[in-house]
Amino acid sequence: MSISRYPFTLGVASGAPLPTAVVIWTRLAPRPLDGGGVGNRVVPVEWEVAADEGFRRIVRRGRVDAVPQRAHSVHVDVRRLEAGRWYFYRFRTGDWASPTGRTRTAPAAGADPGQLRYAFASCQHFEVGYFGAYRHALAEDVDLMLFLGDYLYEGGARPDRVRQHIGDEVTTLAEYRNRHAQYKTDPDLQRLHASVPWLVTWDDHEVDNDYADGQSEWLGPHFLRRRAAAYQAYFEHMPLRAPANVDFAHPRLYRRFDWGRLARFHVLDGRQYRTPQACPPPGRGGAAVVDEGCPELVEPGRTMLGNSQIRWLRAGLAAAPGRWNLVAQATQMARASVVVDGRRRVWTDAWDGYPVPRRALMRFLRDNDVRSCVVLSGDTHVNFVADLKVDFEDHGAEPVAAELCGTSVTSPSRPQSAVDTILRDNPHIKHGDSRRRGYIVVDVTPQRSTARLRVTDDPTDPAPGVETQATFAIDAGRPGVQRI
Ligand code: FE
Ligand code: CA
Repeated sequence: MSISRYPFTLGVASGAPLPTAVVIWTRLAPRPLDGGGVGNRVVPVEWEVAADEGFRRIVRRGRVDAVPQRAHSVHVDVRRLEAGRWYFYRFRTGDWASPTGRTRTAPAAGADPGQLRYAFASCQHFEVGYFGAYRHALAEDVDLMLFLGDYLYEGGARPDRVRQHIGDEVTTLAEYRNRHAQYKTDPDLQRLHASVPWLVTWDDHEVDNDYADGQSEWLGPHFLRRRAAAYQAYFEHMPLRAPANVDFAHPRLYRRFDWGRLARFHVLDGRQYRTPQACPPPGRGGAAVVDEGCPELVEPGRTMLGNSQIRWLRAGLAAAPGRWNLVAQATQMARASVVVDGRRRVWTDAWDGYPVPRRALMRFLRDNDVRSCVVLSGDTHVNFVADLKVDFEDHGAEPVAAELCGTSVTSPSRPQSAVDTILRDNPHIKHGDSRRRGYIVVDVTPQRSTARLRVTDDPTDPAPGVETQATFAIDAGRPGVQRI
């Protein structure tokens, strides 16, 4: 049965590139903000992948069913492609054709690509601005885009903002689907999805502020049911590779992606398996600023990633210690606590709230000669560039890795005076600027990673200007950052 209104309102996307495969995505949604509008029908969708933009040389094609159980989203894991090249793709159903997307495969496993350019972003709050940063990211000509969490925000509409969420705080599957769809109506977000493959991970707001594993901020009942709904909507709307029978109660999001022998991305899930934040205020969960003496902070069993994921991460790092190991994850890893009356005050949601597993990971990097490791982070809505150390108190110690923590695409930040205090109390943080929104672009060669912090003028302007706030280099084999 055909669809009577244009169904490709949410555009197309691709992601999870392997040397011979990439996932292409779309969703049939003639009424995107109100359940999609396809009802309970199963709708066949044809897809094509071509070597050229004019689709004269089609290399793969097929047909899949868009089903209501997946909100008529379509994920095709296109296989038997050539390594290290660009492709074009499109979908068709009935009389309707989707926009054309462009994507690429990763280089072959043994290849030595001379370079890679990727960008990463986080925290795109729809209500407080337009995603105009992405029109600049689009012009950077990147091979790969990474998104590190807070793809959407779950809160209800606020009339004082430049755009409004539809409805109240989202908690059900239908509501999370509508919220994803609303975010995907942003034209610059759609265009960037259609132009390059993305690697994605989530932070808290894709589900609920500051949740941890099965615990919500306000200790609400039935939270795992809500989480499963949010996870399902996320998988439906992202270009992820997942088994057809994925269990949304416990979906595996963490994945590894190699870029030949040049780089290895470890995309982590920092929410699903973490021990709840230490020392919450009485009667609630979630994050807080606590005194460094909070006894829970240093309990030995606490985990940010969970045992399976940390074992998997260590194995992946140790298997390729000589290449660029790029650890893509949501929250700030460098110590960023501030000193008040001689005592440190710790924000418990980021890695500062998990000092024991952080130190274990830093030791692992040092002891296994993983010397070209860059941690990519978001969540702070601040551009922070830092050296990572086993012991942040030891100012003379060599760094073991670098961290690039990117500012938000739109989400509001804290005053620069608060960031200046963090810089004063944390000399391993070499740059901290909360004043601008944007994204980070990184050029990787076998010798060096060069990160440009790209910042936009004003998120309430749909077509903002852009400039480079700072540029940092990380030399291969020499952990730590240098301003250039
Ligand atoms: Fe955020
Ligand atoms: Ca967050």
